[in-house]
Amino acid sequence: MTLQRPLTRAILALGSNLGERQGTLSAAVGELVDRPEVRLVDVSPVVSTKPVGGPGGQPDFLNMVIAVDTTLEPLELLAHCQAVELAHHRERKVRWGARTLDVDIITYDDVESADPELTLPHPRAAGRAFVLYPWSLMDPGATLAGRSVAELAAAAADMPGIGHAGLDPVDEGRPA
Ligand code: AMP
Repeated sequence: MTLQRPLTRAILALGSNLGERQGTLSAAVGELVDRPEVRLVDVSPVVSTKPVGGPGGQPDFLNMVIAVDTTLEPLELLAHCQAVELAHHRERKVRWGARTLDVDIITYDDVESADPELTLPHPRAAGRAFVLYPWSLMDPGATLAGRSVAELAAAAADMPGIGHAGLDPVDEGRPA
C-alpha cells in the first residue's frame, strides 16, 4: 500500500517577456499541471507589466498566477517549476534580464522558509504588483503573511506599470 501525501495549496507566479509570450504562458500552465501530483485549482487573468529592475529597453512582461493543489514537497515543486522553465529555454545570463519564462513559488500553504534555495513566501512577492495584482483578481480575498493581497498590490511601487487586466488567459494582455 502506498501512502498518499496530503494536498497542499501553492500559488505559482509565471512571467514571460521574450518570444511568443502568451503561448509560452499557456504552454507552461499545461506543463506545470501535467502530472498527477499537481492539480490546477485556479488561473488569474494575464496582465501586462513593465519590467522591474534589470537592463533598460526590455520588452514588457506578461504575468499571471495560478493556484495548484499538490502532493509534491516544496523542493520537489521547485524542481518541477525549474524543469518547466528550462523546457522553455530560459537563459539565466543576466539577472532580471529578459526571459522566455520565469516560474516562482509565491506560497506553499503557510510554510515559511529562509532557505536561499527556496524562500517562502517568495521574498519579493509582497512588494510586486505583477504578482499581487493578478493574484488579487483571481482571489480577491487572498492574503499574504496575514495582509490583503489586493491592498499590497495597490501599495506596490510597480502598480502604475500594470496594464489592463480582466483578460482571459488566452488573450494577450495590453495596457488600457
Ligand atoms: P530567479 O532567477 O530570480 O528566478 O531566481 C531563481 C533562484 O531563486 C533559484 O536558484 C531558486 O533556488 C531561488 N529561489 C528562492 N526562493 C524561490 C521561490 N520561492 N521560488 C522560486 N525560486 C526561488
